[in-house]
Amino acid sequence: MRVRLWIFIGLPAAVTIASHLFPGSPLLAIIQDGHGIASVPILFAAMMMVSWLAFRTAYSGFALGRGIFTAGHSPETIRKAISRSRVSDQERFQLIRNLRQKLKILQEKEAELEMLKKVLSHIDEAVVITNAQGTICSVNPAFCAITGFGENEILGQNMRLLKSGRHDPAFYADMWQTLLAKGLWTGNIWNQRKNGDVYPQWTVIKAIRNGGGSIRNFVGILSDLTDIRETEQQIEFIAHYDPLTELPNRILFKDRLNQALAQSKRHKQWVGVLWLGLDRFQQVNANGGRFLGDQVLKALALRLKNEMREEDTVARMGGDEFAILITHVDDLAPLGQTAEKVLTLVGRTLQFGDHSLHFSASIGITTFPMDPSDDAETMLKHAETAMKQAKDRGGNAFKFYSQQMGEVAMQRWNIEKGLKKALERKEFFLLYQPQFCVRTGALTGVEALVRWRSPQFGLVAPGQFISLAEESGLIVPLGEWILGEACIQNKLWQDAGYPPIHVAVNVSPRQFQSSNLEDHVEKVLQSTKLDPCWLELEITESLFMDDQDRVMGILNRWRERNLMLAIDDFGTGYSSLSYLRNYPVHALKIDRSFITDIAHDDNSAAIVNAILSVARSLKLKVVAEGVASTQQLEFLRQSGCDKVQGFLFSPPVTADEITRIMEEGRLITTRTSSLPPIS
Ligand code: C2E
Ligand code: MG
Ligand code: MG
Repeated sequence: MRVRLWIFIGLPAAVTIASHLFPGSPLLAIIQDGHGIASVPILFAAMMMVSWLAFRTAYSGFALGRGIFTAGHSPETIRKAISRSRVSDQERFQLIRNLRQKLKILQEKEAELEMLKKVLSHIDEAVVITNAQGTICSVNPAFCAITGFGENEILGQNMRLLKSGRHDPAFYADMWQTLLAKGLWTGNIWNQRKNGDVYPQWTVIKAIRNGGGSIRNFVGILSDLTDIRETEQQIEFIAHYDPLTELPNRILFKDRLNQALAQSKRHKQWVGVLWLGLDRFQQVNANGGRFLGDQVLKALALRLKNEMREEDTVARMGGDEFAILITHVDDLAPLGQTAEKVLTLVGRTLQFGDHSLHFSASIGITTFPMDPSDDAETMLKHAETAMKQAKDRGGNAFKFYSQQMGEVAMQRWNIEKGLKKALERKEFFLLYQPQFCVRTGALTGVEALVRWRSPQFGLVAPGQFISLAEESGLIVPLGEWILGEACIQNKLWQDAGYPPIHVAVNVSPRQFQSSNLEDHVEKVLQSTKLDPCWLELEITESLFMDDQDRVMGILNRWRERNLMLAIDDFGTGYSSLSYLRNYPVHALKIDRSFITDIAHDDNSAAIVNAILSVARSLKLKVVAEGVASTQQLEFLRQSGCDKVQGFLFSPPVTADEITRIMEEGRLITTRTSSLPPIS
């Protein structure tokens, strides 16, 4: 203010006074010329004007320059700077101060942003910013390192690019719902890197809203959990696996045994435990050193692991002892077989450089449900005890824990051995059980049932050997023989002029696994020239659990050949109405267990009635098997059952006896005492 006072008043006054003090000065002479004293106010006024103009020009230039250089060169700020130069000095200075403050704030923010950028580029977590549609706007270097995408490749892409396909649409729908509702989502996602690797990722997504409240951006912070998973897996491995052999250790074995026992109780399957101790292993350590001992254990462990079924668990229980958990068996025989196989495996020569080493083992076996105990710890003790007994008897042998277990096992064992030779020794023969029409009482067919006349065990019923034959695969050649035999017999009856009846043959699910079942059926039909409509194949519901497409294909082709198909033991398996609708079967055979109880158990009667009514609506015939009393027959007659089979009419008998029934034209009748015993 003071400066301006001097400029506007002081300067013109000084010039005016000077013009009078120094009258010779050329400038003053021009102004004064001809005006005398009157020129003083004129000169003063003129000087004030000149000062004013000079000041305005200089100041505007100064303000404009400042405006340009301080306000960041935008046209708006230049315009403001110019206009500011027109407002009062007070306001002008105030505005400049504000501008400076804003500039300072901006500079601080810029520095802050720069720092944030640096922080983001140094952290291990991937950070990604997307717009509201999920299009990627910004990523940090960690994001590129984790996903494998370069920054230029990923910007502008949608986050969908990282989807691994491991989550279903419901997972993402849920995520979006949470994000929109709460503005935050955290969780584990399996994403996919550029190279296709799928990896686990801990994810935090935050929604950023604008002033109006709608979502502007999403910020995601993603941590790659691959390393953590691997560490967890390593810890888990150390806790549950033996570091030398990499086999499960005792803890894991016990855990699996407990699980198997729980399953076994539910599904009525057997669980076997084999405890294996190497014979005289200490000598290896004593003579060859610990290193050699370790190599032997590793080699044997590998052998056991490679040779056992995938569903079995081989574990190292400590020192020179191993255990094998065997599931999915329903008999003792497979356990004995496995023990024998293990003894052979251990007995094979081990080669270490020039040294050939030979070992043997002792094995103790126990099994649920035959073991008196059903807890893992006790069962393990029992198996170990049996192993020690086998060892005390000289080793290189296996022993069952209890005497009874051993006896049953040995008998099964011997039966299996005998079975292998029975087919070539022609020890099998067929019996036929007649089936009658409930309405007319006429004989409509027979079911072929196999028997084994063993020189060692006498007459053996199928219940004792069919499952063994299935396990060993013998059922395939045996089944082929049964089918051929039954068809030949039926054709003989037809050729002898008896009214045609059908012959029913049981086909085990195991036979369907063989590739030539269909061919064999065809071959038999052609060689015997039996019309397929007189052959009925009895299948079980468990078959539908197997390779469904393949089974369906075979059954459909048989149906096209006009073969008859019946579901045996209906009601005891996975009875499902969808099977009945989808599979081309003609008849259902109600299981004996329901028929036995129909006269005095309401539930059984209700089940039989339900089966009959379903069958009626699906146009299937129903055979009741195991009919043993007239009350049962009466019930079935009233319920509309089609055919009956059972001891009330006849047990399974020889072909000659069936011929006699046909000759007599015997109608449905109760069993006569004249039937000869089977020997
Ligand atoms: P399945 O096919 O259900 O055969 C019916 C079984 O019930 C036969 O036992 C028969 O003797 C018995 N049975 C019939 N009526 C009565 C009755 O009134 N009371 C009693 N208590 N039992 C009756 P079997 O011959 O011992 O056969 C048992 C099972 O062995 C058969 O059941 C079948 O699953 C299987 N089987 C028998 N023969 C063969 C065969 O040739 N091949 C195949 N794969 N399995 C066969
Ligand atoms: Mg049957
Ligand atoms: Mg049956």
